[in-house]
This record gives sequence, structure tokens and C-alpha cells, in this order.
Amino acid sequence: MQNILKRYFGFTSFRPLQADIIHAILAGKDVVVLMPTGGGKSLCYQVPALMREGTAVVVSPLISLMKDQVEGLVANGIPAAALNSMNDEAENLRIRSACFRGELKLLYISPERLMLEIPYLIRDMKISLFAVDEAHCISQWGHDFRPEYAQLGTLRETFPDVPIVALTATADKLTREDIQKQLHLSEPEVFVSSFDRPNLSLDVRRGYQKKDKDRAILGIIARHPNDCGIVYCMSKKTTESVADMLRGHGIVAAPYHAGLPSEERERTQDDFIHDRVQVVCATVAFGMGIDKSNVRFVIHYNLPKSIESFYQEIGRAGRDGLPSETILFYSLGDLVQLSKFAQESGQREINMEKLRRMQEYAESDVCRRRILLNYFGEQTDQDCGNCDVCKNPPQRFDGTVLAQKALSAIVRTGQQASVRTVADILRGNFSPEVVKGHYDTLKTFGVGRDVPPKDWLDYLMQMLQNGLFEIAYNEGNHLKLTDSGRDVLYKGRTVQLAVIRKEEKQPAGRKRKAMVAPRPASSPLPFTKSSMETSPALPPHGQELFNALRALRKKLADAQGFPPYIVMSDKVLQNLCDARPTTVESFGMVSGIGEFKKEKYGKDFVEVIRRFT
Ligand code: ADP
Ligand code: MG
Repeated sequence: MQNILKRYFGFTSFRPLQADIIHAILAGKDVVVLMPTGGGKSLCYQVPALMREGTAVVVSPLISLMKDQVEGLVANGIPAAALNSMNDEAENLRIRSACFRGELKLLYISPERLMLEIPYLIRDMKISLFAVDEAHCISQWGHDFRPEYAQLGTLRETFPDVPIVALTATADKLTREDIQKQLHLSEPEVFVSSFDRPNLSLDVRRGYQKKDKDRAILGIIARHPNDCGIVYCMSKKTTESVADMLRGHGIVAAPYHAGLPSEERERTQDDFIHDRVQVVCATVAFGMGIDKSNVRFVIHYNLPKSIESFYQEIGRAGRDGLPSETILFYSLGDLVQLSKFAQESGQREINMEKLRRMQEYAESDVCRRRILLNYFGEQTDQDCGNCDVCKNPPQRFDGTVLAQKALSAIVRTGQQASVRTVADILRGNFSPEVVKGHYDTLKTFGVGRDVPPKDWLDYLMQMLQNGLFEIAYNEGNHLKLTDSGRDVLYKGRTVQLAVIRKEEKQPAGRKRKAMVAPRPASSPLPFTKSSMETSPALPPHGQELFNALRALRKKLADAQGFPPYIVMSDKVLQNLCDARPTTVESFGMVSGIGEFKKEKYGKDFVEVIRRFT
């Protein structure tokens, strides 16, 4: 096992559970693997595929995923191929005959194709194991149900002696049990790894207006001038406007949503994978086919509808294990919108509950990672030190008077006003709703003039979170006092509020804007600029070498039509910067360099490294 790991993948040690999982498969058992995105599921079936006689058949839901996996394997000198509708007939013929001759160690295939091929191809092959990747697609409970996956239930009976491995990053128990049931697995061993992704930083920004968000996003990109990232947005329209905004600042960005023609979506995805587009602004439609390991930031422009979706989406950052940033923008407007969707959905109760949990995360004043892990059933008693709450614990003050003003305003409207209208009353704004409701005659009109409007929205959000009032989503989003709210208003109960953080909302200035020069989208390295930029993961003196290695990687990748991260991940480039091997032999010792890559790339990389030592 250890030899295979080093020889083909260049790694010296397994991650937690990988070795146990491989042992179980080698013993012929059925196995269920639950690991977070980027946890290292592929190795769990690829290593046994290389150790067992015959060909491993891997079921995958998307052609782009198959392509990515096959390219990664071939780049490590492992015979692998994918049978799918994207191949031309000649190619499929070649692959089929390679299968018959037993030349492939891994064959990737879609579920429907597999079912079609069972009587012809698969029956006559020596199968080492079946791996069902993204296995949650088989369950209606999951979020990506695929009817084609349902047929896989017959595999167990048709091939009684071949172990089946089901792999997924979807952690919830219902889905997990459903996978076992739907695949008819016989007494499977279930491996659940920690869902923690410590290399992802967590950050929530509350109550940002559009301009604040734009500024913050530009700030993040300026910190990652050479790195790719994703901005998730709630609506198609927003993906386009954010992409336009970024392009206006000379950043190579593209929108991605289900309303775009499929050719355009494919092109955008391909450009992103090959480092030709830096930022994709996308709806949730983007991501499942993306195994790109060098995504350095994921931004949520809007609140996601559940912690599951949120965790999947941020999980697309930092698959290579290097530090990566995630930021979530959270506003009351999003909450109202999502509540409306949830109320109107078929599963009202469940979706509202999921949204509430998401809201709790966004509003938390304890370590955010603890909330996430707790949600996935993992208890921790440690603060993570890598979320905004840990790094910058919220400061509190006595907000009783502010709360009383707000609650009084709510009561005086007859509990018939929305958050925005209440803020207008407090500020003394003659907005159309204020005038219409004659709220300008109330005693509370204008009593909160000293507090900026944005801050009022923030305080109101905190009061909502403290349970002082509720939003009647089914009644025009009007605010209604709760018992706690009445206690504050009439019985002198006190309220602690968090001080609003201002620092990131300051204008970031024009300096950064000038750094990002416009560049034609067709240039090979559109977002690579001078060597003065720094990647946070590297010591300053390593930066020039890192950039030189990255440029070499891009050249080698383009020559073969591979995405750069397939040639080498950012993590491996960093290992090379640390170890600075100057001979092909020592190059081969670096983690992530297997024998094949050593022979293929050693000379080129060593030559560049020598220039820096
Ligand atoms: P998943 O399918 O669970 O999302 P992958 O199988 O794509 O994750 O692996 C994510 C990354 O982790 C890949 O870049 C892979 O090379 C790396 N990786 C996996 N196992 C190891 C290991 N034992 N040592 C070092 N890197 C590993
Ligand atoms: Mg995977």
C-alpha cells in the first residue's frame, strides 16, 4: 500500500481513515466512505484498484468529473479511461478493447452507460471493485438526486463477489442510510471521517450594502491576485452584475447559471479549470463538476439556504489543503427572501428549519467552526482560531435604550411595519410607507436620528436574533413583538448588543484598483502580474520561485491540454519551494511527485529551481 502511494501518487503517508478503508476493500468488503470535499476519497478506491487484479469500475455522475479524474490518473502514469457520450466512436472502441484485454486499471462510466454495458462489456471483464462516487445521488434525501443512480441497486446481486465502495461528502444520516439501502450493500463497513476543513478560514460580514460587498470582494481578490475563486449569488441576475462589476475593475470574471446556453457554461467551466478565468460568479448550479484543487477563495454574496449547501460550496476552496478564504455576506433582505422561498416550497417545515440553522451560523457569536461541526454531529471543545469570531471576538454594550426605541416604534405601528419601515421611523425618514401609514406623527418618529441607517438595520437584526421580535413572513414581513420583547419594553429587562465592526467597510482606496490592469481574456496567464504579489501561504523569499514554478506548470499543462493543477497542485509547488530539490532524484522525493512525474517533469523543474539557489 505504502509503495503504491509513493510510486504513483508521490505521497508518503495516508490521511486518517484512508488506510483502514483500503484494507476493508482489499478484504472484499462493501464500504461506505463519508469524507468532506477535498478529504481524499479518490485514493481510497484508486489504491486498491492498483493492488487488485482486474479493472475498477467507477461510477460518476458527470463527464467533467470523469475527465478530471482520468486526467489526474494518466498524469500519474496510471492506465485509466472514461466511457461516455463525449468520446467519438473510435475512441470508445479503443477503450472497450483495452477493457477486454484487461489493460485498464480504472474505468470511469456514467450509471446509465454502466447498466447498458453490463450484458456486453462488463460481464466479460475482470472487475476488481465497483466505486460509486458522489453516492448521495442515489438518494432522494440528498440534494442531487439522479434517477439513473437508482438502477445501481442491481449491482450487488449481479456481481456477488465484487466489493462495492460508495463515496460521498454528504454527511446527514438519512442520506447515509439510504445509500446503503439503495445499493443493497451487504453489511458494509461505514467510515465517517471528520468534516473539519481547518485550512478554510470562515468569515461572516453582516448587513453589507452592495457597495460594501463590492469593495470587500475586490479586497479579497487583491489579496489573491494570481488565484482563482468563486462568488456564489442567489440570483442569475446577480451573477451577471457581480461579474460585470469585476470586469469593470480589470478582473477576468464570468457569470455561470442555468439560464446561460450550455456551450457558454461549458466554456466558462473549462476556462476556470485551466486558470484562464480567475473568478466565476455563479448560482448553486456551478460546482459539482469542479474538482479543481487550487480554488483559493469562495465568497457567498448572499445567504445560502442551508448549512449543507453552504458547506459543500465553501468546500470547493482549498482542496489541496493550503490556506483558503471563505466569506459569507449576510443581510436581512436575504433572510426575508429565503424565508419566502422556504414557505412556498413543498417541504415548508424542513426548509424553514434548515434556514434557521443557517441563520444561527451567520449570527453566531461563538466559534463558527464549532457550529458547523456540531451541525454535522461532531462535538469539539476547542475554538478554531481561524474564523472571524475567534480572531475578533464581538464586543458588547448595553443596548437597552436602543431596543426600547425600536420596540416602541414597532408597537406604535400596530405591528404592521417591516424592518425597513421601522428603521425609517427611527431615523425620521419620510419614506412612502412612513407617509402612507402616518407614522411621521408617532412619538417615536425620529428618536433614533443619532444612529446611522445601516447601523439601525444591524441592531434590528441583532434584536431579531435575540428573540425580541419576529418577522411574520406570511403577513407582509411585519414585525411582531415576542414575550421577551415585551419584557424589554415594559418590564425593564436589559439587552446586550454587539458593537458593529466598521473597519472593513472603509473605502479600500484607489491603489488596489490600479494594480489590476485590464487584460484580454485570451492571454495565457490573464491574472498573473509582476512578482511583487504575495501569496499568503508562502514566505516572501519563496514568492519569486513559486511564480516561476507556476509559470512552468502552466506551460507544461497547456502543451498537454491539461488543467495546471493536474500537472501539479499548488501544494506540490509549495513543497518544491520549501525543499528546493536541485537533482531529479531529490525532486522525486518531494511529496506529491510520483515516479511518473519525476521522469516526466523532473528535468524542467530542477532547471528552474537551480536558477534560484
Ligand atoms: P474528495 O474526492 O474527497 O473531494 P480528492 O480525492 O479529490 O478529494 O482529494 C483531494 C486532494 O487531496 C487531492 O489533491 C489529493 O491529491 C490530495 N490527497 C489525497 N490523499 C492524500 C494523501 N494521503 N496525502 C496527500 N495528499 C492527499
Ligand atoms: Mg471526489
